[in-house]
Order: sequence, then structure tokens, then C-alpha cells
Amino acid sequence: MKRTIVLTILALFLTACLPNEGQPPLATNTPLLSTPTPASVPQTSTQPEASSLAPESDFFAQKGITLPAPTCSDLTQSQTEGPYYTPNTPERNSLLEEGMPGTRLLLVGYVLDQNCQPLPNAWLDFWQADANGEYDNVGYRLRGHQFTDAQGRYYLETVLPGIYASRPIRHIHVKVQAEGGEVLTTQLYFPDQPVEGLTVTLEDRGDYLVGYFDFVVQR
Ligand code: FE
Repeated sequence: MKRTIVLTILALFLTACLPNEGQPPLATNTPLLSTPTPASVPQTSTQPEASSLAPESDFFAQKGITLPAPTCSDLTQSQTEGPYYTPNTPERNSLLEEGMPGTRLLLVGYVLDQNCQPLPNAWLDFWQADANGEYDNVGYRLRGHQFTDAQGRYYLETVLPGIYASRPIRHIHVKVQAEGGEVLTTQLYFPDQPVEGLTVTLEDRGDYLVGYFDFVVQR
């Protein structure tokens, strides 16, 4: 009887030990299991970058916009500032307000340096007339600044500017500045009244237009 108890205890002891012996194979398996981990390491390492880009990259992805590869020949030419610039605009990517009349326009593109390299954190300050050709010279309606994302991209949700009597050509004013660079003051135009080198390429998406324009500025 005693022998049976001793044998039972021994058997239990050995059984208890077996999983421990089984661990080395498991541990041996770990590198195999973790073999994909190195492959997932780059994903992990890109995640913080992706998350830091999240609002912008989500926005471009959500809109199904892939910017065409930039082609740069010259620096973007400057244009007169005009009489309606207001400094210290709010930082925002959307100038849209509820009930704002006009054709919706999504302006997108890169800010690039003279070597055609995208410039992160470049400053852009937009101002424009509303669909009726009127500027808000008291507040900040249809005015706003923003900074390019880590890929040097910007986007602006707005409306197609109207034409006003003193200047019957559709345009959006903008100032652009690379970090530490000089301010470029210029204007963007549209295919119905194009201006060479400063005309937005339009894509009709039915309920809104996408306008593509890349700025090339000196760093
Ligand atoms: Fe103007």
C-alpha cells in the first residue's frame, strides 16, 4: 500500500515536472513564433509616425486622394498681396461654415523646396472671397492658416471663390513659408481663367471639386 502511495506520489511528481520539460520546446518555438515579429517591427516602428500623422493621413485616405508625384521646374511665382490680407488668422484646415453658399472645393498638394523635396511644417495662410465675391474684412471668415504634415502635404476645405467687380478673375490668396524660409505671397487661379504656373488642376467629384496645386518655395 505504502509502495502504491509512493509510486502515486512519484507519478504525480513526474507528471508535474513534464510541463516544465515541455517548456524548452515551447521556448524553442518562441523564436519561430516570433519570426514574424521582426517583420512586424517595422509596422510597429511606423505606427508612432502614422499616429502622429493620423489626422492628415486619415483625411487623405478618407477622401481617396493620392497626390500625384510632384514635378518641380521653377519656384512658384509670387503675386501681389492685394488689399484684403488679415494677419493672425485661426489655424484650421477647413474654412467651411454651416450654410456657407458656394461650390465645395478641397484644395490639396505639397509644399516643396527648390530640389522638389516635400517640406514638413511649412506655413500656409489662405484668404479668399466668398461665392458672392465678398471678403470678410472684419472677422476671419474664409481665412485660415495651417502647417504641412510630415509628408509636406496640406489640405484646405473651402468654397470656390466668387468673382468681384474690381477684379473679375477667380482666385485664392495664399502666403507660404518653409520653416526658416522667406514668405511667398501669391494667388491661385482656376481653369476657367487660367494663369500660367498658378492654375489649380480641378477634379470634379460630383458634390465637390478637388483642386491640386503644389507650391515650390525657397528653403
Ligand atoms: Fe483678391
